[in-house]
Amino acid sequence: MTKVNENYLKLPGSYLFSTIGKKVAAYEAANPDRRVIRLGIGDVTQPLAPAIIAAMHEAVDEMGKAETFRGYAPDLGYGFLREEIARQDYQARGCRIEADEIFVSDGAKSDCGNIQEIFSRDSRVAVCDPVYPVYVDSNVMAGRTGEYHREKEVWSNVIYMPCTAANQFVPELPKECPDLIYLCNPNNPTGTTLTRDQLKVWVDYANRTGAVILYDAAYEAYIAQADVPHSIYEIEGARTCAIEFRSFSKNAGFTGVRLGFTVIPKDLERDGVRLHGLWARRHGTKFNGAPYIVQKAAMAVYSEEGKAQLKNQVACYMDNARVIYEGLKKAGYEVYGGVNAPYIWLKAPEGMSSWDFFDWLLENANVVGTPGSGFGPSGEGYFRLTAFGTYENTAEAVERIGRLRRE
Ligand code: PLP
Repeated sequence: MTKVNENYLKLPGSYLFSTIGKKVAAYEAANPDRRVIRLGIGDVTQPLAPAIIAAMHEAVDEMGKAETFRGYAPDLGYGFLREEIARQDYQARGCRIEADEIFVSDGAKSDCGNIQEIFSRDSRVAVCDPVYPVYVDSNVMAGRTGEYHREKEVWSNVIYMPCTAANQFVPELPKECPDLIYLCNPNNPTGTTLTRDQLKVWVDYANRTGAVILYDAAYEAYIAQADVPHSIYEIEGARTCAIEFRSFSKNAGFTGVRLGFTVIPKDLERDGVRLHGLWARRHGTKFNGAPYIVQKAAMAVYSEEGKAQLKNQVACYMDNARVIYEGLKKAGYEVYGGVNAPYIWLKAPEGMSSWDFFDWLLENANVVGTPGSGFGPSGEGYFRLTAFGTYENTAEAVERIGRLRRE
């Protein structure tokens, strides 16, 4: 009799967004006259920039002619894109990263979910709490996380590093020594960041202990403050302890187009083995290359025209972030994030759980956000709003929340 991977059965269902969807649908059905504004999901809303569309059209035309048609792309990505990434995202910022240390993929979710495969099943995992749920869930599927404690909503073999207002959302070095440390900077969901000095502490710790840092920089494009690093390789020593994930989803609106990349420096070895070689082997075996049309579109992200258009897009989202941040603050809320990230993290009023606040906000302001408890136990009592909506909807949502508070 065939047996299934029983680790999958241990996963508590991913109820967060489906529960939100059901609650919102039920509310709308019961109140058809109300206009509900959604500031819950982390998806972009602005269309692809003109420079990207032009590059895609060109690539489509190339695919239609025998002389320029392309079949399977190289597993690790086209040289033209890997070189552009190395030059603009890394070397231009003083990071020593070469094109052949970059692995192009179909997005950061696949990469940060799959990376755990190249490490031993015995590896001990540390995560910030709250954080993007993929890090823990992918390790659950691999059978690395022990048992789930339903009351506390934690896994017995995961090291949780609480990030709350009490520690300014900066994780402390864990007492037990992890093998893999996931850091998301800027962080989803809190929108908070680690500065260069704060990240250096982690790089030094990983080099000292032999841990590997899995660094998710999906929101890099939103960094506004000079002391927040755009890449972990800006930190001395990172080449021997860190893997970095990047995405084109949030800087260029590729959430539906799909493209990302992972950087593994050749200096990064554990057990006497280069992790670069393992990931190259994994990529070559399980991934058949990102589409030519999409990689050509990404080249437009690095063109002068594309950069100007995308800077504008990010600025629009960050205008929304400012409106939410300032509006909520004025309404008396404790608010975090929103400065280097498109997420605003707020404390629910005293005595309200994340879900209480969700229900209250939906019913009274007709605004949808995401309960913080869905991102980890330390997210309880917090709530996430995103800046990815339209300006009009964002401003109206904030106005409604403010009015509610005054009544
Ligand atoms: N990493 C973080 C922290 C995210 O929030 C997201 C998406 O929301 C991703 C990765 C996924 O990015 P991609 O669309 O490239 O798969």
